[in-house]
Order: sequence, then C-alpha cells, then structure tokens
Amino acid sequence: MGFLGLFSKKEPAIQAKLRFHNTLSDELEVFEPIAGPSVRMYNCGPTVYLEQHIGNLKPYIFADILKRTLVLWGYRVNQVINITDVGHLVSNADEGEDKIEKGVRARGGTVEDLVQEVSAAFFSDLDLLGINRASIVFPRATEYIGEQIALVHALEEKGYTYTIEEDGIYFDTKRFKDYGKLGSINLSGLEEGARIGVVLGKRNPADFALWKFSPKGEKRLQEWDSPWGTGFPGWHLECTAMIFKLLGRQIDIHTGGVDHIPVHHNNELAQAEAATQKQYVRYWMHENFINIEGKKISKSLGNTIYLRNIVERGFNPLSYRYLLLTAHYRTLMNFTWTGLEAAQAALTRLYRIFFEELPTSGEASPEFIATFTEALSNDLDTPKAIAAMWEMLKDTKVTPAQKHGNLLYADRVLGLGLRDGKKRLSEMKSLSVLPASDVPAEIQNRIDARETARKERNFTEADRLRQELLDLGYELSDSPTGPSIRKI
Ligand code: AMP
Ligand code: ZN
Repeated sequence: MGFLGLFSKKEPAIQAKLRFHNTLSDELEVFEPIAGPSVRMYNCGPTVYLEQHIGNLKPYIFADILKRTLVLWGYRVNQVINITDVGHLVSNADEGEDKIEKGVRARGGTVEDLVQEVSAAFFSDLDLLGINRASIVFPRATEYIGEQIALVHALEEKGYTYTIEEDGIYFDTKRFKDYGKLGSINLSGLEEGARIGVVLGKRNPADFALWKFSPKGEKRLQEWDSPWGTGFPGWHLECTAMIFKLLGRQIDIHTGGVDHIPVHHNNELAQAEAATQKQYVRYWMHENFINIEGKKISKSLGNTIYLRNIVERGFNPLSYRYLLLTAHYRTLMNFTWTGLEAAQAALTRLYRIFFEELPTSGEASPEFIATFTEALSNDLDTPKAIAAMWEMLKDTKVTPAQKHGNLLYADRVLGLGLRDGKKRLSEMKSLSVLPASDVPAEIQNRIDARETARKERNFTEADRLRQELLDLGYELSDSPTGPSIRKI
C-alpha cells in the first residue's frame, strides 16, 4: 500500500467563503482571522446566581455552531466562556445589589455553594445539548481580580478614569472617541432618559463603574483590597481582563445576546481600546432572543422553562437544539411545546433514517458538501443547511452510502448526536410512547379495531389499520403487554 493509501479518501475542499454579520459594521463581512489558522473566540457567559433557562442557553448553542463551522473550515478555535461570579449588578446603571449576593441571600449557604450548584447545572445542560465542554476554557471572574485591578490601573494612567467618593472608580466615556459605536447607540437618547436613576456624580450617563467600593462599615460577601479601596470589580471589566490574559489583546470573535450590545459590549470595547489603542475585536456577533408562547421569559410572568423541564416531559434535549437550528440565530424566535414536538418528530425521523435505513459506512458526496457549506457560509444559515440535508435524503440520485456520509458530515456542525450510536433512538422511542390518557378517541378506536382483527387472525385488516394510523401520524408497536402507540 502506498503512503497515501493510509489515509481515507480526501474530502473535497470547501469553496464557499465564510461570511458573518458583524454588529460593528452592521454588514456581512468575509471572515479573515487575525493570525492564520487559529481563531480566538470569546462568548460572554452566564452569571451563576440563578439556574439558566432555555433562553439563557441559546447563546451557547449559537457559539457551538459557530465554532463547529470554523473547525469544518479548517480553523483551530481557542474558545473561552466566562463564568460571572461577582460584579454583575441587578441594574445596568451601576446600582443595586450584586446578583450573586442576592442569589446567596435567597438560597442560603455560601457564595461557593451557589456558584458550584448553578455552574454544575449549566455544565450539565451544555452536555445534554451536545456542546463539547472539554474544548472550552471556563474562567471564573473572581480568579482574575489581579488582572482586573491592573486594567483599571492602566486606564487610570491614561487618564480615562475618575473617582466618585464612596462609590467607585468610573470610566469617562466622553474621553473615548466613538463611544457607543457598536450597534450605533443613540447617546443623546441615553442622556434624555438618564435624568432619573443615575448614579450621582457620573460625568456622563453612559459612564460605567470599573471598581465599586464596599459600602462604609459594611462587610460584603465578596470584596478585595485595591489601590483605591476595598471593593469589587464592575461587571464589564472581567470580560476584557480575561480576554487579555487568556486570548490576547486583540481577538477575532466576541459573541453574546443582543441585550449585551448597548451597554456591556460598548463598555468592554471602550475600556479595551482605551487601554491598548488597538482594535479589540474583529467580529462582534449577537444572537437574538427566544420568547415563550409569544412572551418574554420572565420570572414575574412565571413562564420560565428550564432544560430539565424539557427532559422531564420526555423530550430528547437535542430536540431543543434542533428547534433552535431551524431558525437563523439573528431572528427573534418563539418557543412553543408544539414546535418542540415537531422538532422531536423531525429528529426521530432523522435517527430512523440514519440508524435503521442507511448502511453504516460511506463517504460524503461533493455536491452535498457544496450545498451544505454554502448555506453555512452565509452567516450560519442553519435553516437552509437543514433544508439541504432533507432534500439530499429525498434525492434518489444520492446513493444510500453517500447519504450516510453526508449525514455524518452535516452532523459535524449540527451536532444532533448521530455519532453517539443507536442508543438515542431507542431512548426516544421509549420516551415518546403516549400514555393512554393522551390518545385521541378516533385513534384509540382504530387501535382497538386492529387488536380485534389481529385476534381474529385477519392480518390484512390489521395491517390496513396500522397503515391508517401511520398516515394519521401514529406508530403502533406490539409488546408483550399489548400495543403501544407513539406520535411521530
Ligand atoms: P445572563 O446569565 O443573564 O447574563 O444570560 C446569559 C446569556 O443569555 C446572555 O448572553 C444573554 O444575552 C442571553 N439571554 C438571556 N435571555 C435570553 C433569551 N430569552 N433568548 C436568548 N438569549 C438570552
Ligand atoms: Zn461579557
């Protein structure tokens, strides 16, 4: 065997150029990393004071798709997701309680107990959603206090800071040219709106705290000494300090939810570029929100759904991943249980085809690679990529072996669990069996009629009824305890 023979057949090179929507320019831009084949990516992470709901999990599925796409294109990705365990205040205007302190008050125990509990639930959700945690660095803000103090110091030396007595060290946004450029923030609107509820002593409404002093005579749960006094870092500071330390002074991609654009990311950008006098981030990318049944996810509305609720209802958590991928990451989505059922039905069909109908080996076809990557290259158009996958499966010109290869290829980005083996399919089969109380009467009548036909050994009629049920979207299986029915 020749040397080349050691390798499997080479995959065709991807032709399409990756293009991403950059919030900074509000345009689709061709992706070119700063330093060759390595991409430095930072995704703003969770504040671990409360369990993350399904909306909070959306940015990490988006980041995962983005990373897998970059890897498919041949890049190496250094990915960092921070864990915010200090400094994120209840209000965006540098006021109010620290969310972590609030969380500890509500839960009892120590800060560490809360942080460990919420982080563990978060990590377990990432695992359930097919996100490979081992390839991500998760720094905690409190482990980088020294770096944050050093950054405030650097900004102070350059003249960007001022002190508000008994409050903190603030960043003077007027000193930074183009403050608010990310997402073209209307600063005069901010001035108008800021007459109420602004920290006394701020020079400009958009100014933000870099370091907050602990209130006099009060011991906070988390506080550190600094050259300016005992206190804790402002929330925006941690991301920049950790990026500088872990990824470098300039990075390729920075992501988060759209809610981060106006305040958090403009503040990060200003303090970072003020410190380095260089561009901080090449591509800013933001995912849009998901609502539940048309309403914002909110504690006060009581409509919050967690991934564990989805699992408890018998869904494969990857059905939620599939559901998110059926819409573009920049569109506002709406979650409904019916929508999730449809996603699970599609995923089950995909597993059936892959595990039960197709051969177990085969190479991807160049045609499919071209259409699939073309869709992804256009700002991660996952709905189009998924549509291309279903089209390919219907195409009689594609051989079953190629279909196997194509699905595995697609799953490198979609991450729907095709590599994990058949286990998932059998799990889903048992999970989605309908309890008798949920079976509509007209379906139950047909099940009964088929049972009677079977007992009378009238197999033609039994098969006809079974097919009729299938056409109506119900699959019947026979078990030692009698027939069971599941919705497909
Ligand atoms: P938090 O822990 O509150 O900082 O939220 C974690 C991340 O989830 C942030 O990047 C938010 O932008 C994002 N996020 C919060 N709610 C939603 C939602 N309903 N849909 C999508 N993303 C959200
Ligand atoms: Zn951040």
